[in-house]
Amino acid sequence: MLIDNYNRKIDYLRVSVTQRCNFRCQYCMPEKPFEWIPKEDLLSYEQMFKFIKVAISNGIKKIRITGGEPLVRDDLDKFISMINEYAPSIDLGLTTNGYLLKSQAKKLKEAGLKRINISLDSLERETFWYLTKKDVLSKVLEGIDEAIKVGIKVKINSVVLKKINENEILSLYEFAKQRDIQIRFIEYMENEMAYNQLKTLTSQEILNIISTKYSFETVENSVNSAAKLYEDNQGYVFGIIEPYDDSFCSTCNRIRLSAEGDLIPCLYYEDSINIKESISSKKDLENVLFKVVQNRPEKNKWTKNNLQLESSKENISSRAFYYTGG
Ligand code: SAM
Ligand code: SF4
Repeated sequence: MLIDNYNRKIDYLRVSVTQRCNFRCQYCMPEKPFEWIPKEDLLSYEQMFKFIKVAISNGIKKIRITGGEPLVRDDLDKFISMINEYAPSIDLGLTTNGYLLKSQAKKLKEAGLKRINISLDSLERETFWYLTKKDVLSKVLEGIDEAIKVGIKVKINSVVLKKINENEILSLYEFAKQRDIQIRFIEYMENEMAYNQLKTLTSQEILNIISTKYSFETVENSVNSAAKLYEDNQGYVFGIIEPYDDSFCSTCNRIRLSAEGDLIPCLYYEDSINIKESISSKKDLENVLFKVVQNRPEKNKWTKNNLQLESSKENISSRAFYYTGG
């Protein structure tokens, strides 16, 4: 079992299969061209799988494939099959922008994928285009419907930004509610790769907007979910992810493997240990895993206090989300 120095049990591994992406979301990736890590420096699926087997034998119960955009890497369904056939009880999920989902949903389901979180920040074509730099809202909506149709459990993730999509909270909420899928609103986490004028809407502001139309109560046992969950008066459950709140870290149960093999103890900080040199030895991989778990800090530095102030260097992480996988 993996327990860190703050007595948190680690049973969730996020695996990024690529840094590359077909979108340029303003809160995640710079628009101007920049250099990707060369393909030959990425871990192969076989190398990732070797680490995953070690992680599972030490207590990992949930795995989420992420990126960059994971669906741009070839043969993702084969990788999912490898994991699913080895450990069918693993809670196996994927986070995607949904653009390539319509054509891939069926084979991902057949490969054993159980859950998909799809990022959707706007239902308005112009805003979607502005935020992602890609005019493909209708394709993403088709991808969402296809994933639901083939029977994968779908959630929607929406990052909420002041003056950009704050006016769409209720329409996003109702879009998800009509399809009986959970939506999680995410507070924007400042980072150096993002466009620097963005400001998050706080969880309280999000709840205030929802409360203009729906009453709701906190769901008490939402421990181990990154989101705080709420249930409205019609029984619909939605979530808010609050990295600026202490409970985000106190219940954090996850570590992350980057596409080039960095095992990352915390989303915020620069620390990591690369697993490549340990890949041929189960014992060595186990040592890296335990070391990274022991290195997990108590908290990130996205704090509510900082959020009240104008952006200071203090609360901007240098970590790219397209590298850590979010
Ligand atoms: N490309 C896929 C996608 O967008 O769903 C997977 C990778 S993306 C890095 C994973 C998640 O991180 C997405 O839900 C995205 O909205 C979120 N994310 C990226 N940058 C963020 C930021 N600065 N603050 C909050 N969430 C962010
Ligand atoms: Fe790509 Fe996802 Fe980052 Fe958007 S959030 S740029 S879709 S990796």
